[in-house]
Order: sequence, then C-alpha cells, then structure tokens
Amino acid sequence: EQTLNQLASRDSLTQCWNRRMIDELFDSTLAEARRKGSALCVMMVDIDHFKAINDTYGHAIGDTALQHMVAILNQNLREYDQVGRYGGEEFIVVLPTTDRDSAWGIAERVRSAVEYQPSVLSDGREISMTVSIGLAMFEPKRDPDRRSLMERADQALYKAKRSGRNRIIVAD
Ligand code: C2E
Ligand code: C2E
Repeated sequence: EQTLNQLASRDSLTQCWNRRMIDELFDSTLAEARRKGSALCVMMVDIDHFKAINDTYGHAIGDTALQHMVAILNQNLREYDQVGRYGGEEFIVVLPTTDRDSAWGIAERVRSAVEYQPSVLSDGREISMTVSIGLAMFEPKRDPDRRSLMERADQALYKAKRSGRNRIIVAD
C-alpha cells in the first residue's frame, strides 16, 4: 500500500528515488555542502551490456536484474546516501559528506558486490552482471549547480565504458 507521495517520488520497479526526486534531493544536498563547506561526491552507476541481458533472458529478468542492482546498492550504502534511477539501467548515487578517497572505496565496494553476487532466479539460474561507475567530487568554484558535477560524472562513466567496463573512473 503506497501513499500518493511515495508514488510520485519512487521508481515503481525498484523503489529507489525517481529522477524528479533524486534531482530535488541532490539540489538540497549540494546547497548544504556549499553552505557548510563539506565534501560531496556523486557516482553514476550503469549496468554493463544491459541490452544483452534483456535480449538473452527477456524483459522480466531484465527487471529482476534492475531490482537486484538496487538491492546491492542499498546493502552497501549508508542510509543517508541517496540512490536514484536516472534512465533505463543508469543509477545515480549522491554521497553527502564524502570525499574522493572515501567515494572511491564505496564505488569499489559496489562494483565488486555486483560482480561477485549474481542475481539468483527462482529456478536457480544465476544472472551475472557488472557495472561501470563514473565518480565526481563537488568543487564549489567549479560547480554552480548540480549540472556541471553530473556532467563530469557522466564523462567519467563514458570513459569507464570505453576502456572496457566493470571499472571505476574518477573525473578530473
Ligand atoms: P572504510 O570502509 O574504509 O570507510 C572509510 C570512510 O569512507 C568512512 O569513514 C566514511 O567516511 C566513508 N564511507 C565508507 N562507506 C561509506 C558509505 O557507504 N557511505 C558514506 N556516505 N560514506 C562511507 P568512517 O565513517 O570513519 O568509518 C571508518 C571505518 O569504520 C570504515 O572504513 C569501516 O571499516 C568501518 N565502518 C563504519 N561504518 C560501517 C558500517 O556501517 N558497516 C561496516 N561494515 N563498516 C563500517
Ligand atoms: P548503514 O549506515 O545504513 O549502512 C548500511 C550498509 O552499508 C552497512 O551494513 C555496510 O554494508 C555498508 N557500509 C556503510 N558504511 C560503511 C563503511 O564505512 N565501510 C564499509 N565497509 N561498509 C559500509 P552493515 O555493516 O551490516 O551495518 C548495518 C548498520 O549498522 C549500518 O547501517 C549502521 O547503522 C550500523 N553500523 C555498522 N557499523 C557501524 C559503525 O562502525 N559505526 C556506526 N556509527 N554505525 C555502524
């Protein structure tokens, strides 16, 4: 049973924040980091070859893979870290009060959890997947708003994909 408010802010498949809500949370987390001078990192997490999962196993299992992805994120992140679904298989994680080195450790924890914990289907089959992650750190002088920060994270993600996937690239 969901309230109207939850329906408007949650992704219906995975129950993480939807795009509208994560953008809102991101804006306020960014404003707080700017005001307090605290660190903030963002990571863009994208499932590798997701289309092949859908094509091979069908969309229902593609959906299960997305739910598995969010379960892994929730198990490996703190309660105050913010997870949102951005596009089909792309997730964004906002890490309040987190510097670059810590964010790297978190990204690596997520990357390896995805690699080593396949999604187990009801018939016992295992669906293996990997993720590519682009990581960027908030720089007050460089980032007037969330857009430039996300652009750097996106570019880093693109590099992670292009250089072979299943890896983390930190934006410069
Ligand atoms: P660590 O795992 O090497 O994490 C180092 C620092 O990265 C943490 O320092 C924290 O600032 C940041 N960090 C790590 N994981 C997360 C995360 O999921 N979200 C966010 N926002 N930040 C994260 P901190 O807090 O001083 O913790 C020091 C050490 O204490 C950690 O080293 C870890 O070994 C342990 N620890 C702290 N909290 C937990 C926890 O909830 N579960 C586990 N398993 N270990 C924890
Ligand atoms: P939580 O803070 O919501 O963290 C959820 C899960 O994210 C943790 O489950 C762990 O898998 C991961 N995680 C969060 N922070 C860290 C970290 O710094 N390092 C590492 N390696 N993993 C991290 P876990 O470990 O089962 O902990 C469950 C809950 O127990 C945590 O929820 C937190 O509320 C509490 N907790 C565990 N260890 C510590 C700690 O050292 N300090 C504090 N303040 N709380 C802790």
